[in-house]
Amino acid sequence: MSRTLAEAAAEAADCTKCRLSQGRTQVVFGAGHPDAGLMFIGEGPGFHEDEQGEPFVGAAGQLLNRMLGEIDLARDQVYIANIVKCRPPGNRDPRPDEIDACTPWLVEQISLIQPQVIVTLGNFATKFVLNTQTGITRLRGQIHDWHGRTVIPTFHPAAILHGGGEKSRQFQLLLDDFRMVRSTLDAMSERPSDVVELPEADVGAPADDTDQLELF
Ligand code: SF4
Repeated sequence: MSRTLAEAAAEAADCTKCRLSQGRTQVVFGAGHPDAGLMFIGEGPGFHEDEQGEPFVGAAGQLLNRMLGEIDLARDQVYIANIVKCRPPGNRDPRPDEIDACTPWLVEQISLIQPQVIVTLGNFATKFVLNTQTGITRLRGQIHDWHGRTVIPTFHPAAILHGGGEKSRQFQLLLDDFRMVRSTLDAMSERPSDVVELPEADVGAPADDTDQLELF
């Protein structure tokens, strides 16, 4: 029998499987409803997230909350996580071996939550999840089939804030993408679920467990 999300989070809190454990204040495992139908995946914790132990709590998190409000969802109705659970120093991109080490946590989260819709936030998370080199500008605003689930990529809220905020064209596109998420969820609620279960993560497996990485 699989364990609960809280039990997985408790084990992750002591994780030292990669070098990012050395500079973190705390592991930022994820936050939200353990049975959410909608899950967001970002890149990794930043300064505020590392301080508070919760993903998307800074200015980008405020924008994410606002977008959720635009589609009549509250933060505690969805689940929010990152690809890596510890803050990379100086907010650099996570390195391949760090991602390899951390991916089993993400796989376990998806296996336990079973979201019908996954929204990847930004270029990094989108390329990783969809295993593509195509950039976010071309992939956003489209529905991608992924292991029987729906992935909808959109911009990272931080990129919107750095690129002109509310006055930018990207802001409107972000809003469009969230409305697509809403309509997708609404359409799914009107028909039986056809989600295919992911294999359960082999928790505590070595970082080079390629079976899990193939899921992505
Ligand atoms: S980033 Fe992931 S794998 Fe690395 S120490 Fe943190 S929780 Fe463990």
